[in-house]
Amino acid sequence: MQLKEQLWELTRERFGCAPDQCDDHQLYEALLLLCSRLAAQRPAAAGERKLYYFSAEFLVGKLLSNNLLAMGIYEPVRQLLADMGRELSGIENIEPEPSLGNGGLGRLAACFLDSIAALELPGDGVGLNYHYGLFKQKFEDNKQTELPDPWIERDSWLIPTGKSFEVPFGGFDLKAVQYDIAIPGAGNPCVNRLHLFDVEEPAAQPWIGIRFDKGDIAHNLTSFLYPDDSDEAGRLLRVYQQYFMVSAGAQLILAELEERGYGLDTLADHVAIQINDTHPSMVIPELVRLLVERGVSVNRAIDQVSRTCAYTNHTILAEALEKWPLSFIEKVAPQLVPVIRELDRRVKEICPDPRVSILDDRGLVHMAHMDIHYGFSVNGVAALHTEILKNSELKPFYELYPKKFNNKTNGVTFRRWLEACNPNLSALIDDCIGTSWRRDAQKLEGLLAFQEDDSVLKRLLEVKRDKKDELCRAFFARQGVELDPMSLFDIQIKRLHEYKRQQMNALYIIYKYLEIKNGRLPKQPVTVIFGAKAAPAYVMAKHIIHLILCLRELIESDPQVRPWLQAAMVENYNVSWAERLIPACDISEQISLASKEASGTGNMKFMANGAVTLGTMDGANVEIAQLVGEENIYTFGASSDRVIQLYQGSEPDGRSYRPMDLYHRPNVERLVDFLVSPELLGVGDPVSLSTLWRDMKTKDWFMALLDVEDYIAVKEQAIADYGDRMSWARKMLINIAKSGYFSSDRTIRQYNEDIWHLK
Ligand SMILES: *Cc1c(COP(=O)(O)O)cnc(C)c1O
Repeated sequence: MQLKEQLWELTRERFGCAPDQCDDHQLYEALLLLCSRLAAQRPAAAGERKLYYFSAEFLVGKLLSNNLLAMGIYEPVRQLLADMGRELSGIENIEPEPSLGNGGLGRLAACFLDSIAALELPGDGVGLNYHYGLFKQKFEDNKQTELPDPWIERDSWLIPTGKSFEVPFGGFDLKAVQYDIAIPGAGNPCVNRLHLFDVEEPAAQPWIGIRFDKGDIAHNLTSFLYPDDSDEAGRLLRVYQQYFMVSAGAQLILAELEERGYGLDTLADHVAIQINDTHPSMVIPELVRLLVERGVSVNRAIDQVSRTCAYTNHTILAEALEKWPLSFIEKVAPQLVPVIRELDRRVKEICPDPRVSILDDRGLVHMAHMDIHYGFSVNGVAALHTEILKNSELKPFYELYPKKFNNKTNGVTFRRWLEACNPNLSALIDDCIGTSWRRDAQKLEGLLAFQEDDSVLKRLLEVKRDKKDELCRAFFARQGVELDPMSLFDIQIKRLHEYKRQQMNALYIIYKYLEIKNGRLPKQPVTVIFGAKAAPAYVMAKHIIHLILCLRELIESDPQVRPWLQAAMVENYNVSWAERLIPACDISEQISLASKEASGTGNMKFMANGAVTLGTMDGANVEIAQLVGEENIYTFGASSDRVIQLYQGSEPDGRSYRPMDLYHRPNVERLVDFLVSPELLGVGDPVSLSTLWRDMKTKDWFMALLDVEDYIAVKEQAIADYGDRMSWARKMLINIAKSGYFSSDRTIRQYNEDIWHLK
């Protein structure tokens, strides 16, 4: 049946009218159903070995255009709607965005599922069906407030499967109900699945804000992603969530193994499990437990599981490496305790070094240590990150198991992050090099032949300008904020964390503000745009948001400054905002303290859309710099070696970094002191601003003051270079041309070749 007839039948059946009489909401529902039916007709990708990608987060974003694109009907549907005088982009706006992730780690998992399906590899995701997501961010009095972010409607992408698994907790059982989201493979006829487990009777929304009864596990286990863990009830709930996810997932794996006709003692031949950070680590003891329960010997069970599981490390921030008190696990899943003790005993037998034990003498279970001992692969997510793991963070493990360690530099799916979010740039690329880059992003290198082609460079600038106009309209429509599309768009969008150093960018804004106030008017107007959510219990991050919003207000009401400098912050930064912001960006801010950002993926999306990176030599920025060459990136700041050295120092806090010395430099002091200036105190909260001010002078844990002068100098240089439009356009072109390496299709090919061996 033709697409047109299918759509006609759907709307008639459901709304009793033809598509052209439907409103946008009805059309959205009809297209959702159309995609779901088409996906349901596709077979699963097949192979001898199947991958299960376990992750507490899958930040999938809106799914309509992605699915239309993957199934090859984006253009026909857009045309069909256009013939009725309707716009697909308007209909896309109806879709609520599932907020099943925090940021980079969850978005990576979503890009990976997209690429696994596109490569026709047998691989499904396993996660949880959070009803209210992370939270919805609102700004009130220049501060972040948090609201629930419900996304599940009557018609959603969730497919009830009718399957469920019994999860045994200490003292009670809970049924894990399985929902699936279809992941159609782009360019092939197959479909994979994201399995999301849910409780049987999820709580309606009976609370105020995001406060809820963390003790009511049966109803609230899947309410929020990472519920506030500033108290013990919150931390326990996290362990309940983790065990619920891995127990249901492990049972699903064994059921599918049996369905495929394979014996339990062939698990490792037919299953690979990728553990995305340590949140799913309990899958290891859970699988051992289930195998033993079903008659496999302990030795064989441990051997099978160890050859099935592989672990991805995402961070070297010590506070992010999970360690759970054994007493928590005793309460949540007492049946795991003897297994974990046995796993730990075997480690201590071969290696008594306390640095590598699973269970330490304070009774804490080191989740990453369990993964490394009982997994067959340990990977970092960018070349520099993997080197740091091998040479410092996980050094004793690397010495024990050098062969387990490998690098898999992250990637992003160009289908979402170039084709779907930037159709005009995609069309320009087609005109230059044909369409093969849409299947193989490395082909973008062909653009290098157009470096001296002024007509192409001019079109590139026009496409960017159009996207900036679009962003301005979206800002005005959503937040009533007017931005100047003629100004340079300098964008920093990512979770709010001190190591990512949004505070250093704020110091730049202060620098620029003072320059203008002192009559030194710049040649080039600049708009600094932020998007960031702070974890609800992360006080310092909230102070930084407050600082940014106060600076925004101060500048906005100052007619002397506003024509030259604007600051803006999107409310509720999410995937949809990223899809609007990234194509409109001139300078991509990637300014983490060297050694602290494992990879970053935002940096890759910006590069593919022709933004030029301003960054430290951290994470994947290092690889970007190697690819584009120093002419086409702006780097600054202390090296990761130097930073690691400073952290091993002699000061009372264990470091040899003394921010007070740096603070007293004249060009730094006036910037930092502006935090408590009468101007800023006039619009802000004195407690919040002075706390931040004091912290910056005395602690500055992520060393903003170390790099701030270099940062400002290099940023000023980038802004000056932007004035030479043709030479800037050449930098843009080279960045796009070299971005193909960062396709998640390349990353997944490497995971498959080196780790999973699916086919
Ligand atoms: C890509 C992405 C991220 C990750 O950004 P980083 O700059 O790598 O931290 C976070 N949130 C969203 C919505 C994204 O799309």
